[in-house]
Amino acid sequence: MVLVLLEHKDGEIKKSSKEAASFAADLAMSTGEKAVGLIAGGATNSNELGALGIEEIFEFEAADYLDSQQWTQVIEQAYQKLQPTFIVLSNNSLGKSIGGRIAVRLNKGLISNVIQFKSEESKPIFRKSVYSGKAFAWYAFQSNEGIISVMPHGYGVFPNKNKQVTASKIDISIPSGNVKLKERNLLKGKTPLTEADIVVSAGRGLKDPSNWKMIEELADLLNAATACSRPVADAGWRPHYEHVGQTGIAIRPNVYIAIGISGAIQHLAGVNNSKNIVVINKDPEAPFFKAADYGICGDLFEIIPKLNEALRRAK
Ligand SMILES: Cc1cc2nc3c(=O)[nH]c(=O)nc-3n(C[C@H](O)[C@H](O)[C@H](O)COP(=O)(O)OP(=O)(O)OC[C@H]3O[C@@H](n4cnc5c(N)ncnc54)[C@H](O)[C@@H]3O)c2cc1C
Repeated sequence: MVLVLLEHKDGEIKKSSKEAASFAADLAMSTGEKAVGLIAGGATNSNELGALGIEEIFEFEAADYLDSQQWTQVIEQAYQKLQPTFIVLSNNSLGKSIGGRIAVRLNKGLISNVIQFKSEESKPIFRKSVYSGKAFAWYAFQSNEGIISVMPHGYGVFPNKNKQVTASKIDISIPSGNVKLKERNLLKGKTPLTEADIVVSAGRGLKDPSNWKMIEELADLLNAATACSRPVADAGWRPHYEHVGQTGIAIRPNVYIAIGISGAIQHLAGVNNSKNIVVINKDPEAPFFKAADYGICGDLFEIIPKLNEALRRAK
């Protein structure tokens, strides 16, 4: 059995969990096991999960918010009851904070940020990104079991399976948390940066926070999320949750548009796994051009208004 943790928001399975589910289903198929999902109660869309290849769902009752220590214990208890060979998580913020804890608790190996697997000598081996996305390496577990976290946007969602899903309750007693949630402010209506397909990101080349209007307009026209380089967040021009890079969020959208960002190694560490990188910079020597799939060398203050105008017309 391959067990995948399914996270949801307002009843919708998160995209990162759908990817983890697709990975778990393919892994289960290759090892001749079945893929099962673990989900906090009340959000089961059997058709959707069946299409992703999940055959059984285990639901447990839980409060709206669990901290990472509580999540760890949820998974530990699920493991004791179900004895899966592999536990699959997304390498999102929850997966990053609980993957290591679960591995220690269960005394199993953890392979994080996985993007692919294949069978070698009838054992699955896993490909992951290393050195801040500069290289890839294949890893195997010593024993044929362990914990895997799947890189968001790293594997894909494949709703092409047609499994019948059975739903069961699993009895999990949730310990009281050590952390008390006092206040929670969720940004309404915006795609979280880590889930966005297209990201429009800008840096110090914008010169002043008031110039972000055109960046926001471009993002709206493309239905994209906005991001920024670190100095821009440090200066208070943009909120810190938009800061991407080595010390910020790591993302892997289909399209990353970098505007007025030099492409320092610490910035690239968080974005160079993007599928397509578009760079707009006036300096032909800007290091970002080396990582770019498409580049426009010119003044952003001329290019962005023209781009917005063209997109408005095309719409
Ligand atoms: C330990 C450590 C961790 C770090 N972590 C991060 C991190 O997580 N994320 C991060 O982003 N940085 C990080 N940094 C900082 C990083 O090294 C760079 O300083 C930073 O990324 C530079 O930001 P920038 O590209 O916006 O600004 P700059 O380096 O100032 O680049 C601005 C760019 O805009 C271009 N430009 C200017 N005017 C125009 C115009 N009119 N039209 C077009 N282009 C124009 C310039 O040619 C230039 O390339 C870290 C640094 C350290 C030491």
